[in-house]
Formats: sequence, structure tokens, C-alpha cells
Amino acid sequence: MDSRFRGNDILLVIGNDNPMREELYQQTIIEHNRNPRNFRKLEGATHAAEGYNPLCGDHLWVYVKVNSGGIIEDAAFEGSGCAISKASASMMTESLKGKSIEEAQVLFEEFHKLVIGELKPDEHPNHLGKLMVFSGIWQYPARVKCASLCWHTMHGALEKAKIVSTE
Ligand code: ZN
Repeated sequence: MDSRFRGNDILLVIGNDNPMREELYQQTIIEHNRNPRNFRKLEGATHAAEGYNPLCGDHLWVYVKVNSGGIIEDAAFEGSGCAISKASASMMTESLKGKSIEEAQVLFEEFHKLVIGELKPDEHPNHLGKLMVFSGIWQYPARVKCASLCWHTMHGALEKAKIVSTE
């Protein structure tokens, strides 16, 4: 990873044509990086996987607790990584709670399309909500894996994979 960007991740989530929205998106990522939600090991997790992004060095564990009705009761993560990877994992764990596995898979696919620039949130109906803060990241291909690592790891966990690499 280009070391110039390590300390300045937030400046990379730009490219939105609305400056006020861009500012809001940056602030959201800064805030989640400083104060990540659900940043802990999850006791009683039914699914867990380790994810690694060698391009940037992001290294996360994602935990999911699914109840007998197939609903995600709780989700958490731990590990280390750049601001974008942490903010993304923090927001992912928040958005997964209360979702069914099927809904989580839909979100996984929508988020994947969002970060590679195939889904334009203003044009295509979607369930992303706050996750739209990553809508400009497709313009920075090296950071797409930072944002999507936690999602690939969550997906791997539900598929019972132990280790997920973005390579
Ligand atoms: Zn990263």
C-alpha cells in the first residue's frame, strides 16, 4: 500500500459531487474509526472468520451470532487496520444486527457493487442506508479492498470459511 495514504485515509473518500454530503461521509468514517462499534470478541458466536488484506495490512476477525430463526442477533469484530477498514467493519456490524442471513447476503452483494462503482445509490434501489458513505471509494481501487474486507470476511464466516484473503 502507498504509505502516503496511511495516515490520511479519510481524504480518500471523495469524489462525491455534493461537497456537503462528501463532508458528512468523511466525518462519519472518522468517527467510526475513532470509536468503532462492536469492537470486541463475541462470546457465543455461531460463525467467525479471519480476514486479511495483504495490500494494506488490514487484519480482522468477524463474529456473527445467528439464532435458531436464522436472524443475526449480534455481530462484532476485532483486529487492526487502516481507518477505512475499521470504519467499514464498525458500520457493517451495526447494519447486520436484526437482519436475516438472506438479507445479510443481499447487503453483501449491494455493498460489493457499491464499492466497485456498479451501484449508484441515488439511481438504484438498495438497502445500504448509512453504508452509502463508501460510495466514492471505487475511484481508489487500492482502497476498495480495505472497505470490503470485513464484508468478505462476514460472508466467509457464514459459509464456514476460516480464513478469507482479499488476494
Ligand atoms: Zn486498509
